[in-house]
Amino acid sequence: MKTKTIKYYSTNLKAPEVSFGEALLGGLAPDGGLYLPSSIPVLTTSELQSFSGKEYHEIAFEILNKFLGNEIEADVLSEICSEVYNFEVPIEKVYDRKYILRLDQGPTASFKDFAARMMSRLMQYYLSRNNQHLTILTATSGDTGSAVASAFHGLKNIKALILYPANEVTAMQRQQMTTLGDNISVIAIDGKFDDCQRLVKKAFQDSALSHIPLSSANSINIGRLLPQSIYYFYAYSKLASINEQVILSVPSGNFGNLMGGLIAWKIGLPVNKFIIATNENNEVPEFLKNGIYKLIDPSINCISSAMNVGHPSNLARVVALYGGVMDESGIIIKIPDLDKMRSDLYAVSVTDEETRETIKEIYRKFKLVLEPHGAVAWKGIMDYSEFNYSPGKPLYISLETAHPAKFEGELEAILGFSTPLPQSLIGLDQKQENYYSIENRYELIKDYILMHYK
Ligand SMILES: *Cc1c(COP(=O)(O)O)cnc(C)c1O
Repeated sequence: MKTKTIKYYSTNLKAPEVSFGEALLGGLAPDGGLYLPSSIPVLTTSELQSFSGKEYHEIAFEILNKFLGNEIEADVLSEICSEVYNFEVPIEKVYDRKYILRLDQGPTASFKDFAARMMSRLMQYYLSRNNQHLTILTATSGDTGSAVASAFHGLKNIKALILYPANEVTAMQRQQMTTLGDNISVIAIDGKFDDCQRLVKKAFQDSALSHIPLSSANSINIGRLLPQSIYYFYAYSKLASINEQVILSVPSGNFGNLMGGLIAWKIGLPVNKFIIATNENNEVPEFLKNGIYKLIDPSINCISSAMNVGHPSNLARVVALYGGVMDESGIIIKIPDLDKMRSDLYAVSVTDEETRETIKEIYRKFKLVLEPHGAVAWKGIMDYSEFNYSPGKPLYISLETAHPAKFEGELEAILGFSTPLPQSLIGLDQKQENYYSIENRYELIKDYILMHYK
């Protein structure tokens, strides 16, 4: 059955609507806004119920096909889904009907694998269809770079160039990026993450490079957003009784994960409440409380490092879903429906001390090991269930976004032991590393790009 093709609009409302393929390859809208679907397909109750017997990649196909059915052949999309989602997605019971969804079994042991892998294959699909080539240029403070490197590795029409701050990533993060080779190139910049980001931004704006097709792979891309709604359906379908409403806790930094959840809800996932759990970067919990948005610059360094974000790039999308407009600098042009936001979303900011306490407590009581990001989310559930009465025994799902073994040192200090590495990360330190070290000077990056990607 053919339905209407979905168009994508910019949250700044000053750019024309585009197709999925254009939004995917374009990244940011020309007016600086973020793309969102102008209509959201809705699942029927029987479709939702059929998910309980389906595997992850099958649910992924069903959801994505609703959005892309008119753009990508069903058999191609289905093949991409089974190729991309070839790893476990464990659900662990903690107590009562409170569960942890482990999104840490992908090749880089981070939930970013779910989105990066799908986005890379979708980009490859559109590029090869038009016989085009593209270079992904991205700056990383560690985790995004490894997920991107792994996701794009070996794709025919895409090369990736990743810049990281030489002294700010762990050895394991570096090895995850530098041991792949082939179409993945990595440069260590003698500077900080912000320097890397500045270099990347400058390259995108440089007219001397405009003949080279460059794109970013950061979390604002629509190709990363849609896949992040799938695991919500997956967990729900394995745990909920018919039509039951679930309470979800999402550890949040750039709010892409939460946006995936909100989209899942719009598609028809029965949700009672989203718990937004941030670390000490509490700009969004404060915004919900006071209605005033004040970004945090520079962001606060917490142990849940992937959530050290003082101005979440996806917030403009959340605001848009509630009828508001926020520009990329965080200025609110139109106020969203704050009352509705407050009734749908429960926001909590968790300190590092509370995060450490939570890791200790969940291990002591249930012998479960969480890393800092997952612990922030679990603390959100503890907080919410303490202060909010819900009748019966509601279903709670907390998202664990990274593998505890990636936080060896921190967990060693908190628990006195660390967990074994997952299969995908074993033996990295034995592999050959390839990367360049470059001074923090734009001219050098520019020359590198001109030489390697013309
Ligand atoms: C990126 C990341 C987050 C934050 O996700 P957002 O979509 O940016 O809110 C949380 N945990 C881990 C481990 C991450 O890598």
